[in-house]
Amino acid sequence: MSSKESNPYENAMKQLESTASLIKLDPAAHEMLKSPKRILSVSLPIKMDDGHVKNFQGYRVQFNDARGPFKGGIRYHPNVTLDEVKALATWMTWKCSVVDIPYGGAKGGVICDPKNMSTAEKERLTRRYTAMIADFIGPYRDVPAPDVYTDSQTMSWILDTYSQLKGYQVPECVTGKPIALGGSEGRNNSTARGCIICAREAAKQLRLPLKGATAAVQGYGNAGSWSAVFLQELGVKVVAASDSSGAIYSKSGLDSAKTLNHKEQTGSVVGLEGSEQIEPEKLLELDVDILVPAALENSITAHNAGNVKAKIISEAANGPTTPEADAILEKNKVLIVPDILANAGGVTVSYLEWVQNLNREHWTEDQVNERLEQKMVAAFNASYEMSKKLNVTMRSGALALSIKRVADAIQLLGIWP
Ligand code: NAD
Repeated sequence: MSSKESNPYENAMKQLESTASLIKLDPAAHEMLKSPKRILSVSLPIKMDDGHVKNFQGYRVQFNDARGPFKGGIRYHPNVTLDEVKALATWMTWKCSVVDIPYGGAKGGVICDPKNMSTAEKERLTRRYTAMIADFIGPYRDVPAPDVYTDSQTMSWILDTYSQLKGYQVPECVTGKPIALGGSEGRNNSTARGCIICAREAAKQLRLPLKGATAAVQGYGNAGSWSAVFLQELGVKVVAASDSSGAIYSKSGLDSAKTLNHKEQTGSVVGLEGSEQIEPEKLLELDVDILVPAALENSITAHNAGNVKAKIISEAANGPTTPEADAILEKNKVLIVPDILANAGGVTVSYLEWVQNLNREHWTEDQVNERLEQKMVAAFNASYEMSKKLNVTMRSGALALSIKRVADAIQLLGIWP
């Protein structure tokens, strides 16, 4: 989510400032939310496969835990910065609050290039990082999860390292695990499921019938490809899709299964039979009803926002719309379901995984999806109502709702000593 245009933590704090004045935030809570509760900075010496030792820098930022244990993913990337991790921890706090799950917000990051590391090197890095933060994480303290370039295998190593240090198995110390280690059914497509539930609820508000409506999906990875599946299930025609190699279009609609199959076979959506290739930037400007940005940050900018024709944007990606673009889209009456709400399905099912682990239960996919549906619809409606009450965009409404909930918890707890 790091912005190429500005410092992401400054952006997060600007959002806090504007929301604070919008909701007349309690000054003490406001003061406490201006900086993370705890920042861990750890040095990670790792023996590389060729025998030399390389020192990696890692962070865990725990932003706020007034509503419950800290929660947030761990990112492995060469461009990780402390400010990026601080921003992501702030946004996790708002995200958990907006869907009303009993968690605070955190994020972890290690500066490394996982694409150029062996599995064994990544395992040693993960175990050392876990050991260095072990005293500050745990099922009731801080529950990590996967993020960019970390996955269920990474979570398995964290679970094992943490459990070895404790002396007993603690599956609830981390989420996003494989099913065999206590992972939840439905986690792999939960972000997209939540995102399309939001798009469906937004369509209801606009009285837009979904049968025969059209959509474009930018990015065809986990969030994007599953979003296409769920849109198709609702009767929406997905006419365009893209990935890092290019974009495709078909007036009669792209079959989600065939598109994914083609991507898996060839590495890209480009070249799918029955589709034509279009310029990637054009995908965002197509005359469609719903746009799902599911790729990178800053894809809708001041340069292209004025050409966006979609009536609904449901932000599967984190930070796909710049603040300048937001202002243009607001003027053009585009209903944007903001990232902290639209992609909160992932953390919601992470929460459900934790609840199952704490109770030593394993639910069916239907049970998980039913609870996800309830949480997402409630969060959508609460954010929408807040935006109407305050006469602001849904992004500002969702921020107002979530920051107010965190501030209320802070006020009730009081300050010790
Ligand atoms: P992914 O790596 O599975 O997929 C990303 C896709 O984007 C790939 O298909 C890639 O080719 C494509 N892409 C990259 N650059 C592109 C470009 N310039 N134009 C078009 N497509 C491009 O990642 P993901 O897990 O699907 O995540 C996508 C976004 O959703 C990210 O912003 C991520 O932070 C956010 N998100 C994902 C989850 C989740 O559970 N997967 C949860 C919350 C937020």
